[in-house]
Amino acid sequence: MKKLGLALSLALAAVVVCAAQALDLTRYQLVDLSHGFGASTLYWPTSASKFTLKSDANGPTEGGWFYAANTLSTPEHGGTHLDAPKHFSATGRTTDQIPLEQLMAPAIVIDATAAASKDRDYRLTRDAVLAFEKANGVIPRGSAVLMRTGWSRFWPNAKTYLGDDTPGDASKLSFPSFGVDAARLLVEERGVAALGIDTASIDYGRSTDFQVHRVAAARNVPGFENLTNLDRLPPRGGFVIALPMKIEGGSGGPLRAVALVPR
Ligand SMILES: [Zn+2]
Repeated sequence: MKKLGLALSLALAAVVVCAAQALDLTRYQLVDLSHGFGASTLYWPTSASKFTLKSDANGPTEGGWFYAANTLSTPEHGGTHLDAPKHFSATGRTTDQIPLEQLMAPAIVIDATAAASKDRDYRLTRDAVLAFEKANGVIPRGSAVLMRTGWSRFWPNAKTYLGDDTPGDASKLSFPSFGVDAARLLVEERGVAALGIDTASIDYGRSTDFQVHRVAAARNVPGFENLTNLDRLPPRGGFVIALPMKIEGGSGGPLRAVALVPR
């Protein structure tokens, strides 16, 4: 009887090990949530610089083989990127300090394309989040909540995407995003891992006080900005992996974000 018990527990252990190993990526659709980085990448109008890639080598070597290498330079905040809590909080976590659980999390996608197409200054409301929960269930703790506005269709046209293309002037921007009451509900009551959006900021374009950034940063909740392809994600059931360059002491950084969507 003792032997049978041992055999059973060994068999059970084997099953558990097999289950733990069974991350079969063929069962998921892999969705790229990042825009490419290049000469047309959008930055905040007041940004001191833009993305640059300087060729250091690109051709045959004396040894006979081909060799290419570049030097890149970029502001942290532009293109598809991370906002570390440090961006809006003196005591917030820096890019390298954010726990992986906040960068790899179940994805909740709130579709606000209808409201945003009617009003480009739309801010997601607390009621809209509650309505989403009525239809899809309460947003679980530790989720990455991604707001979909449809704005990635305008990328990389500054005039339509940001609402204004005056160089050096951020006073006339116009695009949708989270509202502060929705952010408070998500960050303070639901305990989300991260906030993400397919526009340039987790605050709407006309914001002058960046309340959503401050609410998120105060709870060490990072932001993912300028996402794309959110239309390919379900309201829930997907999984997001948004890994920035691990910049020590960084306030953000370029982000390669992907999603796993069950087939
Ligand atoms: Zn940012």
